[in-house]
Amino acid sequence: MRANLIAGQWTAGKQTNPDINPSDVSDVIDQYASGDAAAVDAAVAAARAAFPAWSGSTPQQRFDALDFAGSEILARRAELGELLAREEGKTLPEATGEAARAGQIFKFFAGEALRTAGEIIPSIRPGMSVEVTREPIGVVGLITPWNFPIAIPAWKIAPALAYGNCVVFKPADLVPGCGWALADILSRSGLPAGVFNLVMGRGAVVGEAIIHHPGIDGISFTGSQAVGRRVGEAAFKRGAKFQLEMGGKNPLVVLDDAQLDQAVEVAVQGSFYSTGQRCTASSRIIVTQGIHDKFVSRLAERARALVVGDARDPKTQIGPVVDARQLEQDERYIGIGKGEGAKLLAGGERVKRDKNGYYFAPAVFAEANNSMRICREEIFGPVAAVVRARDYDEALALANDTEFGLSSGICTTSLKHASHFKRHAQAGLVMVNAPTAGVDYHVPFGGRKGSSYGPREQGRYAVEFYTTVKTAYTLA
Ligand code: NAD
Repeated sequence: MRANLIAGQWTAGKQTNPDINPSDVSDVIDQYASGDAAAVDAAVAAARAAFPAWSGSTPQQRFDALDFAGSEILARRAELGELLAREEGKTLPEATGEAARAGQIFKFFAGEALRTAGEIIPSIRPGMSVEVTREPIGVVGLITPWNFPIAIPAWKIAPALAYGNCVVFKPADLVPGCGWALADILSRSGLPAGVFNLVMGRGAVVGEAIIHHPGIDGISFTGSQAVGRRVGEAAFKRGAKFQLEMGGKNPLVVLDDAQLDQAVEVAVQGSFYSTGQRCTASSRIIVTQGIHDKFVSRLAERARALVVGDARDPKTQIGPVVDARQLEQDERYIGIGKGEGAKLLAGGERVKRDKNGYYFAPAVFAEANNSMRICREEIFGPVAAVVRARDYDEALALANDTEFGLSSGICTTSLKHASHFKRHAQAGLVMVNAPTAGVDYHVPFGGRKGSSYGPREQGRYAVEFYTTVKTAYTLA
């Protein structure tokens, strides 16, 4: 049994939660502690006790701990990638890439700890000087989803620690393995006891205890819109700082002048890789008249040829869906799409493999329109709906006609349309001739409209959430 990490001690709870391999449900990876409100209380108390010393630690101490974690993650990327593929269902190349990215994020924020600086601004008053500095916000609660079990924890934990905060971290209970492995590495990184705490367990228990806890000064949440709104309300009510990254319904626009092969590949990768279980996945593909029929038949052909199978089989291109509930949701939306009149050209059904896993064939709907539920609601599976547009102007309007605003893409060889789209797409991320999913680790990440709330994550922009600004005046 793998325990929680509270005040520097591995602490077993009363209950445990099995970590199950979605490629083979008979494979139980391990049992993980499933914490309760008392575990959250203990973790918050430990974090508060550690905060005065950690917030006053030197940049070198912070660098050393984060650099240690980054180096170990990178050295063990193959093993951590294997664990990730086994518990979440991403293919091995995707999972190993994600593990490497987590290591790179720790390295990046190790450097940022050394680069924290303030400003001295001349005052408008004679003899006065003004200093602007940043201070940590205190104890932060970090709540993460199952679909990036190591990268998202890394992109919250690393900046939180780099800027001098103490952490109570709750990974998603479907994938506790990678979160536990990160905690194990951090427990050996030289961080003082209580600076970083892990409390695994259910959202309704551990998550609720974190968001309502008066000892938590800030909450960084990534997950669904429904839970995000709840987190925001709880934090706002007690005046805690919060940041929410939530769902998407990301459009990919394909114009008549796109390079057909490239556009099909961009759509296949954006819609189906990582089994479509990415907040940035392309789920609406908006295609102009002239290229529409050619594009749709090529996309359906490519979708049918994708190899669905065990995440750790080197031949697999699309791993299983994460669990039975998500698989039922994917199937339900296939029924909804058919009922709405969209035409299913490929996939959309369970597939059998040697092992008993949650295998689902990537689906392509054609003749969809943007008012259908399959074009408005996040499905979070390998399901793409193609919508026909008259021209660029209509395609742009359709792309923006959504309550979400995370990622948005266009395939075109026209500089004019690419430039216009970059300026007018109502999303936090815009991709030209590249999949809507797949981002760098050193630049800001996040959305607008119903997808996000609060400052951006990652890159140098992460400082906005994890610090608070102080303006100090001195009269000489
Ligand atoms: P989820 O909202 O069900 O769970 C997210 C986390 O919140 C989990 O750790 C869960 O245990 C916890 N939680 C659940 N109920 C809670 C409660 N009442 N109080 C506090 N915490 C609670 O999301 P999920 O199914 O794990 O992940 C999929 C969702 O995440 C999708 O909507 C996807 O778009 C989104 N996502 C967004 C981004 C982004 O950066 N925008 C990235 C990845 C995933």
